[in-house]
Amino acid sequence: MSVSEFSLIEKYFSQQRYSRDDVLSGIGDDGAITHVPENMRLITTVDSLVEGCHFTSDTSPYDVGFKAVAVNLSDIAAMGGEPCWATLALTLPQADTKWLSEFSKGLFTLLNKYRVQLIGGDTTRGPLTITIQINGLVPEGKALARHSARPGDLIYVTGSLGDAGLGLLVSEGKRHLGQQHADYVSEKFLRHVPRIEQGIVLRDIATAAIDVSDGLLSDLGHILDASQVGAKIIVDHLPLSDAVTHALTHAPTHALKTETVETNSWDLVLSSGEDYELCFTVPANKRSKLEEVMAQFTCPVTCIGEIQIERELQCVLSTGEKVQPARSGYDHFGS
Ligand SMILES: [Mg+2]
Repeated sequence: MSVSEFSLIEKYFSQQRYSRDDVLSGIGDDGAITHVPENMRLITTVDSLVEGCHFTSDTSPYDVGFKAVAVNLSDIAAMGGEPCWATLALTLPQADTKWLSEFSKGLFTLLNKYRVQLIGGDTTRGPLTITIQINGLVPEGKALARHSARPGDLIYVTGSLGDAGLGLLVSEGKRHLGQQHADYVSEKFLRHVPRIEQGIVLRDIATAAIDVSDGLLSDLGHILDASQVGAKIIVDHLPLSDAVTHALTHAPTHALKTETVETNSWDLVLSSGEDYELCFTVPANKRSKLEEVMAQFTCPVTCIGEIQIERELQCVLSTGEKVQPARSGYDHFGS
């Protein structure tokens, strides 16, 4: 990139920046300096979005900027952290002012909403790639982890599952829904809301947590692996939006024989990724406390099963009938 291109790019990222008191030195030096209070611990997450891999070339730059921040915030949420500072490494084929303007709007919409300051960045020329690192704070000893779920704990998820997976199918033209449902799942696919506030509340209640980025079975599987336990999921207790319920009960005729939900169609809910909801475990004796504190949020939480000693992940209907997912997305217990 030429000097003039660099200053052009800098323009888009300096105008909209949120300012925090704990940033001692932000953009403009070789590195940023921030203040970490003595009783707090630093959480660091990083994620890259690559055009053609994580988003298509016709995705709006606003949505690319929004999503690049949202996936990182979701990881901070899953740790029970409060997001504070971000850095951005941007690889661009050329300095396209219209693209930069829209991308930076999407990026700062979320950064500013959560009072996160952009404290550093780097720009290079190459295939479009966005890498964002976010740092957050959590009180000492309070971070949520994957390794501490215990047999008997109840398993919960925030929000609803399968929306982003359905949104992807709709955007690819593989499923057709009415306009209202299509708009809803597209919004969930491109602009999911990170569950930061819920993660903070869960610090004192949950035994383990993860964000659902790769699909429920896969991500819950990470908790089970790390905690050396198993789980039973009641599949028809999984929280579904109206759009996903509609898609499951009106599946293409080759997939469904009747209007009832057939086993394989549960894959949309069990195995599709990018919902970025929180999946977490709670001791049974904290159930009422959890439901009490979660009532302050419009986003629901739903109990979907229980942690077990036996190291397997069972999917059953509430009738007791077993569900065998076609795509488990889950092979952590392999030898
Ligand atoms: Mg994660």
